[in-house]
Amino acid sequence: MKPIKHVVIAGGGTAGWIAAALLNKVLGKVINITLIESTHIGTVGVGEATIPPIMQLNNALGINEQHFINATNATIKLGIEFENWKSSAHSYMHAFGTLGKNFPFCDFYNFWLKGQTQGCKDDFWDFSLNYQAAKNNKFAPLNTISNTSLPGLSYAYHFDASLYAEFLKHLATERGVKHLDAKINEVMQCPTSGNIQSLTLDDGSSISGDLFLDCTGLRALLIEQTLNTGFVDWSHYLPCDSAIAVQTASNGELKPYTRSIAHSAGWQWQIPLQHRMGNGLVYCSRHISDDDAKQLLLNNLPAEPITEPRLIKFKTGRRLKQWHKNVVAIGLSSGFLEPLESTSIHLIQSAVTRLIKLFPHHGVSDALVTEFNKQSITEIEHIRDFIILHYKLTERKDTPFWRQCKQMEIPQSLAHKMDLFKQTGKVVRENDELFAEVAWQQVMIGQGLLPDDYGALADSLTNEQLAELFSNLKTLINSTVEQLPSHTVFLSSLKPK
Ligand SMILES: Cc1cc2nc3c(=O)[nH]c(=O)nc-3n(C[C@H](O)[C@H](O)[C@H](O)COP(=O)(O)OP(=O)(O)OC[C@H]3O[C@@H](n4cnc5c(N)ncnc54)[C@H](O)[C@@H]3O)c2cc1C
Repeated sequence: MKPIKHVVIAGGGTAGWIAAALLNKVLGKVINITLIESTHIGTVGVGEATIPPIMQLNNALGINEQHFINATNATIKLGIEFENWKSSAHSYMHAFGTLGKNFPFCDFYNFWLKGQTQGCKDDFWDFSLNYQAAKNNKFAPLNTISNTSLPGLSYAYHFDASLYAEFLKHLATERGVKHLDAKINEVMQCPTSGNIQSLTLDDGSSISGDLFLDCTGLRALLIEQTLNTGFVDWSHYLPCDSAIAVQTASNGELKPYTRSIAHSAGWQWQIPLQHRMGNGLVYCSRHISDDDAKQLLLNNLPAEPITEPRLIKFKTGRRLKQWHKNVVAIGLSSGFLEPLESTSIHLIQSAVTRLIKLFPHHGVSDALVTEFNKQSITEIEHIRDFIILHYKLTERKDTPFWRQCKQMEIPQSLAHKMDLFKQTGKVVRENDELFAEVAWQQVMIGQGLLPDDYGALADSLTNEQLAELFSNLKTLINSTVEQLPSHTVFLSSLKPK
């Protein structure tokens, strides 16, 4: 086993620069890092919506939030609104944060469900602070508000993907990461072990290393093109295989949430940034042609396009081994779940965190690689199930695409989760599963999967107590939202005076 002293990162998109910045921050004293990217090839250029754990990444990197928001033209994200997913003209939100008030051993949703059986008309999301703030275009950290006992708004960001990579590049190179702008022309392997020894660049130079991170995006230059690691295809569960991305001008008030609008054979995203809107259509090319998809997107844009529409082809699934020999694939090279729940950047963050925790200082060992791959598979399979849920639960029968989604086979792990919820109202969060119970509940309830009965512990409150609880919660949430400034005013307050 060869001690790992030099890590070479191939690729400088979001994956490459998150890996460089975080590895440098934590291990910078014991390893050297070189990142090679080709600005000529460029990055995938999408990936602008995040989820709340990004706060941990920013904190670990010592990033100042105000500086970060201004540098990346970021906006606040309080959740994702799903429009037309259950049926046409229906919408619901996966709002971040908590919902209602949980009692020991009994999630709030059971009380809400009991209320429904008593004729209560309150919507589930009347009890979500995040939802109410989002739909009123309001935001500020709650500690800036004097009069509320609520714990806080859970949030993430929308940001400009290229500005984000620039931001991280600046951070990483300033702290000592070596950066080369060159095309990798050839990958040299050890003839006996098959390990990667060096990368030959287009200027003829050669960069050797001990451990290589493949952050070359969908090309997967090291992990697949060189090591032929293999791919586990999930396109039978997640049939979308294409996207068209286009940027438009901003259109008025900034929404603090992502919109996901279902169409005939896929769905459209709208991601509001301070200076423009990110838009795209994710679709299944077996059900709609690229040309028709482009036209569909252009017909449904919120404002004038300011860039040419760009086609991106992908396959959903995961690399058979995310870590193979002395190569760890991070980012799109490791696989891709479509962007419905904005989980890819998070998967980069957690893969780098995992690599740091299991870092092979004394050399790559089979046991470390096996552990890393085992944890990675568990994580991505949980997320995969959560994303499939949105498609499976559709009630739409209007197009062959939605009929296929409704009828498709799903993983046993997801079928079990849905059965458990339907029969018992329980959602069990396994191990370090990313999405909490309340996230699953919102998608299941939002798309019409309701349990046969509410949990018996909800009977600990009488009908009168239940009505009082609901009334108090709504008053507290509404009065808190009233005190919040608008999202736009909050962002303006962060600008340098
Ligand atoms: C349609 C779509 C929408 C998405 N939306 C979201 C979202 O909202 N939220 C989210 O979290 N994620 C999203 N993602 C995923 C997200 O875009 C990626 O996870 C993220 O951008 C990381 O990409 P990457 O760095 O792996 O690849 P890339 O950005 O493609 O970077 C690859 C890098 O490798 C370099 N490279 C490649 N070949 C060579 C070579 N031969 N020599 C030198 N350099 C090379 C390139 O120049 C580039 O620097 C989306 C993805 C798609 C396809």
